[in-house]
Amino acid sequence: MAGDERVDTASELQQLRSQLAAVAHAAECRNVALQRSRTRELALLQAEHLPALLHSFSHYLRESYQLKRVTVLLHDPQHEIRHLLLDAGRRPEDHPDVFFVDALVGLAPQFNSLRSPWLGAFRAADHGLLFPQAVDLESIAILPLLRQQRLVGSVNFASADLEHFTRREDGEFLAHLAVIASYCLENTINRARLLRSGLTDVLTGWHNRRYLQTRMREELSRARRDRTALTCMMLDIDHFKTINDTYGHLAGDQVLREVAQRIEGEVRGSDVTARYGGEEFAILLPQTKAADGGILAERIRASVADEPFVIAGQACAITLSIGVAELRPAEQTGDFKALGEALIARADAALYAAKAAGRNRVVGG
Ligand code: GH3
Ligand code: MG
Ligand code: MG
Repeated sequence: MAGDERVDTASELQQLRSQLAAVAHAAECRNVALQRSRTRELALLQAEHLPALLHSFSHYLRESYQLKRVTVLLHDPQHEIRHLLLDAGRRPEDHPDVFFVDALVGLAPQFNSLRSPWLGAFRAADHGLLFPQAVDLESIAILPLLRQQRLVGSVNFASADLEHFTRREDGEFLAHLAVIASYCLENTINRARLLRSGLTDVLTGWHNRRYLQTRMREELSRARRDRTALTCMMLDIDHFKTINDTYGHLAGDQVLREVAQRIEGEVRGSDVTARYGGEEFAILLPQTKAADGGILAERIRASVADEPFVIAGQACAITLSIGVAELRPAEQTGDFKALGEALIARADAALYAAKAAGRNRVVGG
């Protein structure tokens, strides 16, 4: 009898020990998960600008969670986010896993009422638009990106493991991550907007000189890396003072706007246009030789000169003088500030040669 009791006590003790070990193990796992989750959230919070954040979403999180694919959907009906990316020197195509859409509803049934992460099995019919051309996807998580309680996008995780988002992954951590991701998105967009407000010319809506200087450095660095030429064009309206003196300052402003519009009609989206000073404009042409820059400059010159402007009901001839210069940064080049200034100085010298030669012409290229 006494012996049986001892056996019972011993097995109960054993049971208790293993329960304790299981609790300790669960606590340890949770601790590790918490640490990992904190590390991921910190990585998102440290993204300095919008392109870095989008990269963290689609690359860093994919690696960290060991996922098959991570995509990002962004509601961008006014193309504002895409323009902010362009301002930062990135093209939307540089982020192939980020999709800009006019509306979220209709892309997956979950978007009808997504307020917290949705975790479940991947269904091609429902989720195909979130993961185009994806194969071997088994389970997914859709994390809502919210701005002021409004759904503005989602970060979408896909795993080749059915259990990843149906049993293993803790929804609570993902809910927290979704809140942090939403905050980071709002923050980087606001910062980009603020930056833009100091870099835009109010009259023409074009970028200003300060923006051009920043972009110049980035484009020179890219040209060195890709071993391509960067061409710079400086454009100045001829005898603009006379327009002001004859028709007044407001008419002068209108001419500045229309000249900017005509130039815009000739350049590509990837070209960087800026109002450099009063009646002076500058254009950077990435991956372009001076000869091709010269052809574009001639088209711009003609688009302004060939069609008279209408000022106060009167037809008025406006012309431009344009200088073109090219640069191919050598591999050892590091001082992009000085190099950029030198390129602008050469384009400026060509512009003044065009003025000296009689105006309404292109020099260089
Ligand atoms: P050139 O052919 O040698 O370039 O002669 P120009 O008259 O165009 O050049 P100048 O530098 O003598 O005069 C430029 C004028 O542009 C003087 C300035 O008052 C005017 N200007 C600068 N910014 C603005 C602006 O924002 N609006 C208006 N209306 N005029 C401006
Ligand atoms: Mg001038
Ligand atoms: Mg002028």
